[in-house]
Amino acid sequence: MPPTDADICVIGAGPHGLAIVAHLLTAKPALRERLAIVDPTGCWMRTWHDQFARLEIGVLRSPIVHHPDVDPGALARYVDDHRKQRSNLPYDPPLVDVFTSFCSEVIERFELGDAVTTGRVTELTTDEANTITTTAGTIQARHIVWAANTATPIIPWALRPAVDSGVAQHGLSVDLPSIGSLDGEHVVIVGGGLTAGHLAMGAVERRARVTLITRRPIVERDFDVEPGWLGPRHLAGFWRAGDPQRRIDTARAARGGGTMPRWMRRQILDQIRAGRIAHCIDRIDTAPCDAEERTLQLGDGPLAFDRCWLATGTRPDVRADHALRTVIDDHIDGFPLIDPNLRVRGRDVYMTGRLALMELGPAAGNLWGARTAARRITRALTDVDLDTDSVTTIRPNSTIGAAK
Ligand SMILES: Cc1cc2nc3c(=O)[nH]c(=O)nc-3n(C[C@H](O)[C@H](O)[C@H](O)COP(=O)(O)OP(=O)(O)OC[C@H]3O[C@@H](n4cnc5c(N)ncnc54)[C@H](O)[C@@H]3O)c2cc1C
Repeated sequence: MPPTDADICVIGAGPHGLAIVAHLLTAKPALRERLAIVDPTGCWMRTWHDQFARLEIGVLRSPIVHHPDVDPGALARYVDDHRKQRSNLPYDPPLVDVFTSFCSEVIERFELGDAVTTGRVTELTTDEANTITTTAGTIQARHIVWAANTATPIIPWALRPAVDSGVAQHGLSVDLPSIGSLDGEHVVIVGGGLTAGHLAMGAVERRARVTLITRRPIVERDFDVEPGWLGPRHLAGFWRAGDPQRRIDTARAARGGGTMPRWMRRQILDQIRAGRIAHCIDRIDTAPCDAEERTLQLGDGPLAFDRCWLATGTRPDVRADHALRTVIDDHIDGFPLIDPNLRVRGRDVYMTGRLALMELGPAAGNLWGARTAARRITRALTDVDLDTDSVTTIRPNSTIGAAK
């Protein structure tokens, strides 16, 4: 059963939820008895762990200074102190196992092992008081932090019938460890980002013949967003743009479709040279909805397949969760209008994750965004400034979304 009342209710126990709780408890330890954390999985980071396991990802894309803990140097120190293995890749991204054990250490250090209530938030009302209705019971809270990564899968229109009928599958639901040999099968993967790379390598390891379909040549980039977006270099201009739609367009352009870090692009190019992956830069005109057909119509002609996996990502959108829809009056293209404290206009609801794009820009959903959002929300709710990260100390002079 969840607590019936709390000062702060955090909805979602992924890295963003963990970051906000770690920051709040650092700023004001007395909040411990006054926090409610709700997630249908009933534990920390389950969605994160599952998505890495399903794609057999061994290393993060982000550098070692990005994680949910308060001190940016904490993960590097943990690696040294516990003599953990490093990835030895440029920018020192942590190995997934090491990141996982570090997060467990954070959860233990803050004594949060039993803190997550199992339940899905089904309704929020903020009229008289903040009432959070969950599948496990109802909570009254002074403040709400939405950390639920609300989004919908991106499915190109031509592929929609194929996905709806189960002939093609969104990459999010592909579970590589549960797939045995793919010897003799032709696996088509749509997308040119890191997820497409992991899926392609997973299929090759299972002896499939793979075709990778992308809209453009594979673009190499160390991180999914240029590092200038983690500080004033790009964000200063972003904050100067008062028009919300312009901010969204700028942030989308900055992400600019799927890219791969050098190490993954090299692996893919090696497999292309070895003839195990065919790379096709093309558009998909139609896709079958009948399991018997299994042929895509590309601009260049037909392509038969046994399996088709879409590594096309997801789109953050407040409308994707009914509970959120009831408290967000103003959104542009699914992004809520928020103030520089990440507070939703006129409500005691704070956003962290990709839905905080309007203030944090294109890296809002990444681990960098988790800590940046946690600091801002903590400052707003406790008056304590945990600004230890010199890269992001600037307080934007935002002209949009000022709280009513
Ligand atoms: C394959 C992959 C690899 C990535 N690698 C990196 C990386 O290396 N570095 C990086 O910085 N970023 C990375 N990201 C981006 C980002 O860090 C992750 O998507 C991360 O999981 C986002 O954290 P989150 O807490 O916002 O969301 P999630 O991890 O998705 O957690 C959200 C939680 O909210 C819960 N929830 C949802 N709806 C409700 C509801 N109605 N009520 C209650 N709870 C709810 C869910 O059960 C879930 O546990 C990666 C993303 C993907 C998909």
